[in-house]
Amino acid sequence: MILEYHKVDYPEQRWTRTPENFRRDLETLYARGYRLISFADLLDRKVKTPAGTTPIVLTFDDSSPGQFRYVEERGSVAIDPKSAVGILDAFTHEHPDFGRAATFFVLPGASKPNRLFNQPEFEGRKLQYLVSQGYEIGNHTLWHANLGKYDEATVRTQIAQAQEWIQRHVPDYRIRTLALPHGVYPKNIEWALRGSVKGVSYSHDAILMVAGGPAPSPFSKTFDPMHLPRIQAVDQDLGYWLRYFEQNPQERFVSDGDPTTLTVPAKRADGIRREAIGSLKVVER
Ligand SMILES: [Zn+2]
Repeated sequence: MILEYHKVDYPEQRWTRTPENFRRDLETLYARGYRLISFADLLDRKVKTPAGTTPIVLTFDDSSPGQFRYVEERGSVAIDPKSAVGILDAFTHEHPDFGRAATFFVLPGASKPNRLFNQPEFEGRKLQYLVSQGYEIGNHTLWHANLGKYDEATVRTQIAQAQEWIQRHVPDYRIRTLALPHGVYPKNIEWALRGSVKGVSYSHDAILMVAGGPAPSPFSKTFDPMHLPRIQAVDQDLGYWLRYFEQNPQERFVSDGDPTTLTVPAKRADGIRREAIGSLKVVER
């Protein structure tokens, strides 16, 4: 599952998870044997979670203030413990074996309050913090442009400028993923995949949709990094899929605990994408 969060704030709504409910999601996932992996590890098929656990990816769209906020108290600055980053940091500190990973699909050129988490004085500090702590930054276009509505030049400029504006704060950071605003593809997917505008070159390894259910295993023939589905992390959708995998354990990806082997049920071995195996040892059981 690639989970998709938007606002972390009050009150709970279709596009808003309260801080308490976000914290509860982490507790639920942890208790049910899910462990965080980075987007890079998903794309590179490096599943390093312990045997018996299921990897899961967290994503946050639109860089709204509740995702990452600094608060000033008596002259010093700290991460707001009620913002998503504060909650995640605290949870992974308490449960180091949960892993620490999330990808933030930010909007560097949006109007308030979605422009890079809405604290202009801390924009750079936040992006640098995310990268330094192993979190990831993804492209979500400059200001949430519906890419299906624009010509090639505008689509490419939206993507290249977003990257350029992010890299002003984290110069050498390579952005590997693009989340489509509204889930809408441009008329030609190539425009979103790679290109160059005024000296800024971008190249994405994955394109994310806004819905679609659980993503297939990255070893599966059905894994399509250009059309990665996500699950909106609200009670109804997350609850549905958690129940689904409880009731259909054979559908759930379970780590064998050994990153050098790929363990697959013998009757499903046909579903493995041969090119995905690389140097892994395949174990059928
Ligand atoms: Zn969005």
